[in-house]
Amino acid sequence: MLKDQDRIFTNLYGMHDRSLKGAQARGHWDGTAAIIQKGRDWIIDTMKASGLRGRGGAGFPTGLKWSFMPKESDGRPAYLVVNADESEPGTCKDREIMRHDPHTLIEGCLIASFAMNANACYIYIRGEYIREREALQAAIDEAYDAGMLGKNAAKSGWDFDLYLHHGAGAYICGEETALIESLEGKKGMPRMKPPFPAGAGLYGCPTTVNNVESIAVVPTILRRGPEWFAGFGRPNNAGTKLFAISGHVNNPCVVEESMSISFEELIDKHCGGIRGGWDNLKAVIPGGSSVPCVRGENMRDAIMDFDALKEKGSSLGTAAVIVMDNSTDMIKAIWRLSKFYKHESCGQCTPCREGTGWMMRVMDRLVQGNASVEEIDMLFDVTKQVEGHTICALGDAAAWPIQGLIKNFRDEIEDRIKGRAIAAE
Ligand code: SF4
Repeated sequence: MLKDQDRIFTNLYGMHDRSLKGAQARGHWDGTAAIIQKGRDWIIDTMKASGLRGRGGAGFPTGLKWSFMPKESDGRPAYLVVNADESEPGTCKDREIMRHDPHTLIEGCLIASFAMNANACYIYIRGEYIREREALQAAIDEAYDAGMLGKNAAKSGWDFDLYLHHGAGAYICGEETALIESLEGKKGMPRMKPPFPAGAGLYGCPTTVNNVESIAVVPTILRRGPEWFAGFGRPNNAGTKLFAISGHVNNPCVVEESMSISFEELIDKHCGGIRGGWDNLKAVIPGGSSVPCVRGENMRDAIMDFDALKEKGSSLGTAAVIVMDNSTDMIKAIWRLSKFYKHESCGQCTPCREGTGWMMRVMDRLVQGNASVEEIDMLFDVTKQVEGHTICALGDAAAWPIQGLIKNFRDEIEDRIKGRAIAAE
């Protein structure tokens, strides 16, 4: 179990003072100017050495992503955009940072922006996060008043402005190019890539979009050293990580833990075990609603990191762990996700616009058992025609939960279809 002295987020539960003074007492904003004065190359090299992989779901190495930004400006400004849209069902970790430990993020924005030659950073916060926006804005105002932001931010010699932008509540705005479009005042519709944001992002300028947690851990990594961070978790899966565990556990929670912790330890130590005991575990969605579910018995020996969960046929995603016990109607649970993705499709590409509705309507009938067994394979084929054939990853996100259901719970779907047929006879 992660020791308290190794936690980056020391006020995750809002038990302590969240103000600047409180944050400083806990070690944040310590030597910020000195870190910046070490220079861009040092910061980016240290981030690469730490092994930090993006915490927004895709797991792309953060330091490497930063290195894609142009070293010299061609006259255009550069921007850091922080993705605080956190709309994936089950995912609720970034909100704890923003409302309880906001200075970790604000300090991270300054340092990361400097490393990418950006004098301005935008945080795009989810429309439904009203209290979180208020808490974060209050912390930003406080940082401005104390000279941590603005001209010569934190006495670093770097001029830096931080803006908080409130979204209108659309899941698709969590996709980085849709987020940029929305920030520009347009409809939140994903752009075709290339060009990638590092070449032409916000207002056509070089831009990096990073998740809240990815940015909030930066100052502590730079203060404590990359070896310290890389010392947690298995190779290629470094660091500490916020896990958000919901569903049928005794105590759902958000907790910072070492990467590569075992699933059993995570649930037993922090969540008080599975509701009704381990034998009552039916399925787990380990990384937010878009990743395939895993059968309970297959999760018992799981390790919670990128590589191990990939081997299990799923993904770490945002580390939003949704636990389901034997009382769960799996078909109905996945149908609910299909309905969500159908609702959130921006409608720009045909496989997603038509496919999400098509898949949801078949799922509607599978919940009732009102289908033929052959339709299960037909549905699986449709998910394959959507997956990988769309502009953005929402198509995949809609396809994967259904694929997980069919691969892992086909017997349940067939039983329901047969049961209905028998009842009809
Ligand atoms: Fe829009 Fe779906 Fe296409 Fe993404 S995959 S651009 S959400 S239609």
